[in-house]
Amino acid sequence: MKTLSILGSTGSIGRNTLEVISNHHDKFRVMALAARNNIKLLAEQINAFKPEVVAVFNEESARDLRKDFPDLRILSGEEGLVEVATLDNVDMVVSAIVGSPGLVPTYEAVKAGKDIALATKEALVMAGKIIMSEAAKNNVKILPVDSEHSAIFQCLEDREMKDIKKIILTASGGAFLGKSVMELGDVTPADALKHPNWDMGQKITIDSATLMNKGLEVIEAFWLFGLPLEKIGVIIHPQSIIHSMVEFIDGGVIAQLSLPDMKGPIAYALSYPDRFRDVLEPMDLAKISKLTFEDPDMEKYRSLPLTFDALRAGGTMPCVLNAANEIAVEAFIEGRIGFTDIYRVISDTMDAHEVSGGDTLEEVMHASGWAMQQANEIIKAISAKEDIKI
Ligand code: MG
Repeated sequence: MKTLSILGSTGSIGRNTLEVISNHHDKFRVMALAARNNIKLLAEQINAFKPEVVAVFNEESARDLRKDFPDLRILSGEEGLVEVATLDNVDMVVSAIVGSPGLVPTYEAVKAGKDIALATKEALVMAGKIIMSEAAKNNVKILPVDSEHSAIFQCLEDREMKDIKKIILTASGGAFLGKSVMELGDVTPADALKHPNWDMGQKITIDSATLMNKGLEVIEAFWLFGLPLEKIGVIIHPQSIIHSMVEFIDGGVIAQLSLPDMKGPIAYALSYPDRFRDVLEPMDLAKISKLTFEDPDMEKYRSLPLTFDALRAGGTMPCVLNAANEIAVEAFIEGRIGFTDIYRVISDTMDAHEVSGGDTLEEVMHASGWAMQQANEIIKAISAKEDIKI
């Protein structure tokens, strides 16, 4: 029986994880749950999975929850998250907190020797060097839950890295695939939140529309698979049936296919190296009939060149890109800036950053905090100008 802590249990990945687990009650025991602020759903999950410990974002929610569950250990804040991530009797931590708040608990879990089912890509984007070296030191398996990385992981199996020519991440192209660069200026948050294939949280759906999600995934792949930048490619594949591919030195390509459903990569991370039966709906290729591909338009999707710039700059720069993006996406959702301003905020924040090594968590957190502040300043300047125009 594998014991689990689930960080981010009420989000899209967390809910799907619990659904997979509920079909395999004999194989897993949920020891702990952590959620941000969907206390109602968290209470339902507590009743269904009977964890020993629960953590919530703030003390107020913890107090509310304690009224309903007086005998349960209920923690709060980052301390609570870290405790849930490092419990003695837990084998694996499902890291599925959205964005930068997922970094510290994921890092502490790796340090505590827990295997990680990793959905919080920001942990590797911000601190890939630190997390991967800590994982190697503690013999920790990091199993990707991101569909693209799970696909590559499945295509690679135990093949040797020297045989890989390239990995190719597929991207759906998000909500605005058919739109021109010009048309992107007028799109609204509601437009951007309509994702064609995947049912995901708000932040990642906007990231998908800007293609920044793919940028972050390039950084994630860079650390996870230890490949140089030149060996990481991106291709637009609107049907999201091929989840990613590996091209080998002999020219052969292995791809992983399924209907788009996060339960696939989640189940594989939980069951690895085995596979569970009937996780996904059977795929009828004749019915799908056509798979299409195109190169990403780098002028339209500026997140990709920005990502490659950040990786080339190295050190704290990917972390700065991530932090600026988080702030910019939030400002876009709240209607404070336009869609294409997201790129501008990231680019201007990166321009203002002086890169350092990014060798300690403190340094990375500091760079992230600086970038958030800087991005906020840039957003203020942008919205001030917009007001004058009106
Ligand atoms: Mg993905």
